[in-house]
Amino acid sequence: MASDTGPRTNQAGLPSANPTSSYWLREPNTLLLGHRSTPDLPEEADIVIIGSGITGAFAARSLLQDYSCNKKVVMLEAREACGGATGRVMEATASLSSMAPTQPITLSGGVHAFMSTPLFQTAVAQIDSLTKTHPFLASQLEVILPTNPSKLARLRAPNCHGAIIQKTAASLWPYKLIAHILTSLLPNPNFNLQTNTPVLSLSPSPSSPGKHQILTPRGTLTTPKVLLATNGYTSHLLPSFSDLIVPVRGQISAIVPPSPVQTLTHSYLFAADPEKGQHAPRDDYLVQRPVLTPDSGGEMIYGGGRRLALRLGLGQYNDDELELKVAHYLRSNLSPPLDLGGKDEELPATYEWTGVMGYSRDSNAWVGEVPSHRGIWVCAGYTGHGMPSAALSARAVAAQMLGLPESGQGHARLPEEFKITEERINRARQGAKLEDCGGWEGAYFSGPADGE
Ligand SMILES: Cc1cc2nc3c(=O)[nH]c(=O)nc-3n(C[C@H](O)[C@H](O)[C@H](O)COP(=O)(O)OP(=O)(O)OC[C@H]3O[C@@H](n4cnc5c(N)ncnc54)[C@H](O)[C@@H]3O)c2cc1C
Repeated sequence: MASDTGPRTNQAGLPSANPTSSYWLREPNTLLLGHRSTPDLPEEADIVIIGSGITGAFAARSLLQDYSCNKKVVMLEAREACGGATGRVMEATASLSSMAPTQPITLSGGVHAFMSTPLFQTAVAQIDSLTKTHPFLASQLEVILPTNPSKLARLRAPNCHGAIIQKTAASLWPYKLIAHILTSLLPNPNFNLQTNTPVLSLSPSPSSPGKHQILTPRGTLTTPKVLLATNGYTSHLLPSFSDLIVPVRGQISAIVPPSPVQTLTHSYLFAADPEKGQHAPRDDYLVQRPVLTPDSGGEMIYGGGRRLALRLGLGQYNDDELELKVAHYLRSNLSPPLDLGGKDEELPATYEWTGVMGYSRDSNAWVGEVPSHRGIWVCAGYTGHGMPSAALSARAVAAQMLGLPESGQGHARLPEEFKITEERINRARQGAKLEDCGGWEGAYFSGPADGE
């Protein structure tokens, strides 16, 4: 390990060998399946990226395409390419459109439907303050009060206590975007992708001072620079981060809509204050796949129900199993609140799967070289919201690894809050442990994270 050894509380394990089947991985890119750019693992590399999700892919793209570095870059992935959280989620936001203009992006609106009054009032108050601080952002939102039931009914959320429309939201298929990026890098002789190659440990090289030795079941690789693009699994290789980035398991289902299939014009988020006996809010999200015929397509990709999961999913790094209670909830609790024009009944699911997020102790991502671990960079810990921030964080960390200045054309300005310093680490450690407060959901609503 990187000079700190021994298991810690909440330390992640390796990505599980037989993960649940994600709807988003059902059309794998044939160029990437089982890909190994060289039959054997290289023994040396200038830069090693561990992880091939959105973070690893955008870091590799930035190094080799945006910054045209002439370095040997090896990417190691425990599973098939993009087999982690990025291959298990459904959406991305407009920040990606500037990074991959060749990819089709569907633009639509999003409805945040509030199923309880206090949370709706909190959200409205926040929009009021946003109007003063960031008027452009506030202008993208429309508040629908409960006194406007016909509008709520038109939004298919007749039972909610108020809604906020996000006028512009983008959605795409993240796996396909990442597959496009990785396949466009494959012809580059400086890029070497090795799938199905878990990294077992990271330690100082005994023979090359200042370098790192990366141990895999297929051999050992030595490099001066490593990027951990491993999100929820980061602490497996960097145990001292066990209390800073904690794995949290989430769950999603592909629900078959009632026939005839109706087209939704928005994506949805259903939110509510915690119910009696619970310590986390409702936080469920939905996008619909294209409707093909009145009887086919239009699957409802519905995720959430985490307040019913054991310990809110905290500390769970295995995505090879489902929480049955959550699966039942997702099949049974979409309509209502969503008006699907039919009977409110349990709906079948074609796919049900889990995935692992990385929750950060201070809620912000950790991006940069790890103090006291020279040559090891981390870009992880997005607290379940990596889609809008991972791509540009990866671009920023790539610039750091090449020693490029922070500002300049084409560079991403990293928020101060994301930078890794000793001072930030110490400050974060003064706050509650994630397992004690239950992540941002538990901290916001207070109370221990003991699930049900
Ligand atoms: C159920 C669910 C719902 C989500 N919903 C949203 C959402 O609505 N909005 C949003 O913004 N974000 C959401 N997220 C979070 C988002 O998916 C992540 O923030 C993002 O995908 C992180 O990307 P990443 O590349 O950093 O990590 P990942 O995509 O997890 O990639 C890390 C990769 O590293 C590999 N790896 C790990 N350890 C090792 C090792 N030791 N050796 C080799 N390889 C290793 C893994 O196999 C994996 O492929 C959700 C996540 C889940 C699971």
